[in-house]
Amino acid sequence: MAKQPLLLFPLVASLPIAALLLSSGSAPGPDPGPAASPAAPRPAPPADDGKLRIIAFGAHPDDCELKASGVAAKWAALGHHVKFVSTTNGDIGHHEIAGGPLARRRKAEVEDCARILGIVTEVLDIHDGEIMPTLENRRKIVKLIREWKADVVLGPRPNDYHPDHRYTGILLQDAAFMVIVPYFCPDVPALRKNPIFLYYSDGFKKPNPFEPDVVVSIDDVAAKKFDSIAALESQFCEWNPWLFGYLDKVPKGKAERRLYLEKQFTDRYAPLTEKLRAKVMERYGPEKGARVKLIEAFELCEYGDQPPAERLRELFPF
Ligand SMILES: [Zn+2]
Repeated sequence: MAKQPLLLFPLVASLPIAALLLSSGSAPGPDPGPAASPAAPRPAPPADDGKLRIIAFGAHPDDCELKASGVAAKWAALGHHVKFVSTTNGDIGHHEIAGGPLARRRKAEVEDCARILGIVTEVLDIHDGEIMPTLENRRKIVKLIREWKADVVLGPRPNDYHPDHRYTGILLQDAAFMVIVPYFCPDVPALRKNPIFLYYSDGFKKPNPFEPDVVVSIDDVAAKKFDSIAALESQFCEWNPWLFGYLDKVPKGKAERRLYLEKQFTDRYAPLTEKLRAKVMERYGPEKGARVKLIEAFELCEYGDQPPAERLRELFPF
């Protein structure tokens, strides 16, 4: 998750919504303990069937879901292949549990999200709060993009309050050329065509603010997005509410929680739609564009392929 921390830190104790603006792993937690879990089988890449192939990276097991679950559901509904990757295992973002048990819970939660969205998901076994832009991690990211034979890569900008978000953004930038260099990681065939790399929206302004190149209405899949957020219980019904002091406001029942989170996140996402309303109307026309409630927005990274407008349309065919 991402937001300008300067606005938040003085307010977090009194404003529940502020809780949503910071990520898991954003505060000190218990010692993460030993490595998270025994190696599980990794999801196999899809067959070459002419469909689009999208891989999205987030630093924690909630970041992709918060920023791109709407477009993921839309792509998946059209038979395109989408994969979410969390670059850390989320094993410190909680006030009561940490280490392996938390990492396993986080993995199970994003697997629920993947079922809801019709995509696949993978969580790298790197401790929350500890990812660095190392050569080893650059190789990992490059291999993941190549294995997926991605047409589109999504991820955070490197301007962000959270070091894991920041370094995940750097790692993606580092991969944006190396994926087509055959003798970098020669054990996984290089892509012959560079994917396009796109950043998630965020509110950070320095050194430069987010500039949208693609806006997508997600109103038709909003229920799936909110179902996914509700599936991330350890994040949004426990950790964030505890961290920012509104745990007593979270309902106990599943249905009530789902409604509570829908309201909370609708309030949170709606300002982006208003801010980018002109762009939304440009894409959908004035009449339909004026009615759009929720969007996801993306900025083209200048290091990957630079598609003409019509290619960008083909990659977001909805
Ligand atoms: Zn995060």
